[in-house]
Amino acid sequence: MWQYENTALNSEQLQINESLFTLANGYLGIRGSFEEGYNGRADSIRGTYINGLYDTLPVTHPERLYGFPEFQDKQPNLVDLQSMKVELDGEEASLFNGRHSKYERILYLDKGYTRRSYVYKTNSGKNATISYKRCVSFETKELFVQQLEIEFDGEIKVTSTLDANVSNYVNKDDPRVGSEHAKLLKINKLGIHNNSDKSSDKSDMMVAQFQTVHSKIGAACASVHKSVNQNGGPITGGYLKSEDLEDKCIYFVSTQGKITVSKYNVYTDQIRYEKPLEKAVEILSSVSERSFETHLKTQEQKMNAFWKTSDIEIQGEADDQLAIRYNLFQLNQSVGRDKFSNISAKGLSGEGYEGHYFWDTEIYVLPTFQLSQNDVSKNLLMYRYNQLDAARARAREMGHAKGVKFPWRTISGIECSAFFPAGTAQYHINGDIAHAFIQNFINTDDQDFMKNYGVEVLLETGLLWLDLGHFHKGAFKIDCVTGPDEYTAIVNNNYYTNALAKHNLHWVVKICKELEQTDAEWMKSLYSKLGITKADLESMRRASDLMYLPHDEALGIDMQDDGFLNKKMWDFENTPDSKYPLLLHYHPLTIYRYQVLKQPDTVLAHYLLEDYSTEETMRKSFNYYEAITTHDSSLSPCVYGIMASRVGYKEKAYNYFVESLKLDLENTHGNTKDGLHMANLAGTALSIITGFGGLRITDDGLVIRPWLPQAWEGYSFNIQYKQRQLKVHISDEIAIELISAEDQNETQNETPITLKVYNQDVTITDKVFLPLKG
Ligand code: BGC
Repeated sequence: MWQYENTALNSEQLQINESLFTLANGYLGIRGSFEEGYNGRADSIRGTYINGLYDTLPVTHPERLYGFPEFQDKQPNLVDLQSMKVELDGEEASLFNGRHSKYERILYLDKGYTRRSYVYKTNSGKNATISYKRCVSFETKELFVQQLEIEFDGEIKVTSTLDANVSNYVNKDDPRVGSEHAKLLKINKLGIHNNSDKSSDKSDMMVAQFQTVHSKIGAACASVHKSVNQNGGPITGGYLKSEDLEDKCIYFVSTQGKITVSKYNVYTDQIRYEKPLEKAVEILSSVSERSFETHLKTQEQKMNAFWKTSDIEIQGEADDQLAIRYNLFQLNQSVGRDKFSNISAKGLSGEGYEGHYFWDTEIYVLPTFQLSQNDVSKNLLMYRYNQLDAARARAREMGHAKGVKFPWRTISGIECSAFFPAGTAQYHINGDIAHAFIQNFINTDDQDFMKNYGVEVLLETGLLWLDLGHFHKGAFKIDCVTGPDEYTAIVNNNYYTNALAKHNLHWVVKICKELEQTDAEWMKSLYSKLGITKADLESMRRASDLMYLPHDEALGIDMQDDGFLNKKMWDFENTPDSKYPLLLHYHPLTIYRYQVLKQPDTVLAHYLLEDYSTEETMRKSFNYYEAITTHDSSLSPCVYGIMASRVGYKEKAYNYFVESLKLDLENTHGNTKDGLHMANLAGTALSIITGFGGLRITDDGLVIRPWLPQAWEGYSFNIQYKQRQLKVHISDEIAIELISAEDQNETQNETPITLKVYNQDVTITDKVFLPLKG
């Protein structure tokens, strides 16, 4: 169950497959377009992206009001290096002309590369086998390496291109993709970089140096080829850049019988390197010394290490097993691994939401990595820490005297949401980020990280809540915000926002008290830097204690906001399927007037902070809100599934899980062509671990309340918790194992750890077996 395959060529599916066959490594992402293109028979969103690289474009607001963002980041599509075309006896070989058979395309999830192959029959009836392999390296983040192998009894010609005539994808009718600004690159230099040392075996390279049009951030790419015949002997090819190839350069090589062309491509950018082109040439010179096969071997080792801590095994449903591995693989490919990058809504697999980072990171993606690759989740937190200054500036612009206001969507740190009711108004992002810092602390006990970075974020977000809200009739209230449900906007006392703010405020006071004891001087200077007084801390404590969490006694549910239950019910019965997602068919104001949800709001708060509610209220709230949720957001089904597990609706929980599991693989939201839905991919992992496994990590410790879906015979998952590596296996019993450092080949803590299984304390020294309930 390690191969995701595609054996039928379907023109309708090509753009979707470009997303599904994306290869990436957290830095560089390459969509799975065909090297030889589609011969004009189908559209392509051919894309190459660098995580964290952005252009900054002016936003047009015909009626600009104060504080509306003037600029917006956008992730540029970079110079294309995927192209490699084949001619056989002078005839262009492609899947869209002539005849072909034995087409297959495989993504090797355990090895980290793809292979696409077919047999091509020429007009004269001769067969050629053609195979393309590609890999985006986890060892050298700048490297994308390809290999083309052809066997043909005749004349073979290969042409490989560097194409600088690239654009971003735009669609004016879909608010989830960019509507303008297709050209984001200015090409400064393009051509052949000659190897000056002719005595060495280093070859020439195709190179391009470019920059983003407005933000003027430099970047570069370089590409080199190695061609060999059937005996492994080198075949000399040539490079060309001529006037009539304005924005392209090419490499060409020809031979008879058999050829293997390895193409090494390197991308660099000026955020990471002062001189991107020089760096690209340097990296390329070094990586091209190793064979394609050596790079694949290293990649496999990297993948092994990843699966060791991240795999989720499922016994009994082969489709579920493959799909969950596929999802984990794609998530791992898109997550940023340095302080300049995060994970955008579509990762590195497409251009939906313009490459912006959202709260999807903190509430969906980061918790997944916290349990499997702790260093990755810390890095995501560092990205936010590094943007505190931008968030401070935005808070002032938004009229807040103190604190920070993190942007709803961004790459560089500026607020990029032009539609404030479902953008800037989502103040909960501050609470989401705070929640992630707190979870990291609880999970890792990393005092230094909290002291050096976390506490500053918690204080700044804490200050913002004080400024945003107010004490009223003995309670702390927050007006005029939008919760996670984007079908309800600008409300007073959104339950989710207030709950997250309460949690943020509670923890900042607690952490500050502790740090004042252990690091008094440090805290003094932090308070003075942020202008925090004793009175502020006392207000934070009171605000948390007195936070108003709206509740409706009659219905026995927590209320989404003060006015939510007074609104009309959406007429679901008379809304045909063709009118979903509602956001593409109704004016926002129409939607706002009804009780209708795009995605969970109060139910999500119950998942994150169950102590603020009761079992009965959570169940009743689930029933109430589920009935009026459209799931128009891909962030929705997984959370309903997790909470269905929590309140005991097992069949529902499994159905929601399957819905999220297949969301991209079966393109159920109709927009997988714009990229994979990262939050949902993470949500599928959380559905198993926190849904079926019932895992929660709070200040009181780790608890699991597992159950086994009927369709399965068993499942297992890994947990990184307080420097321990645990493996939980659920079948007709529960097995929990403390993995030894030796097995893991890492320095990790092996001392016994106590956790709760259902309500019972269990200490794990080695391996324990317990009965499965329910
Ligand atoms: C959802 C948001 C989400 C965004 C990016 C929207 O459709 O409503 O909650 O952050 O997509 O994934």
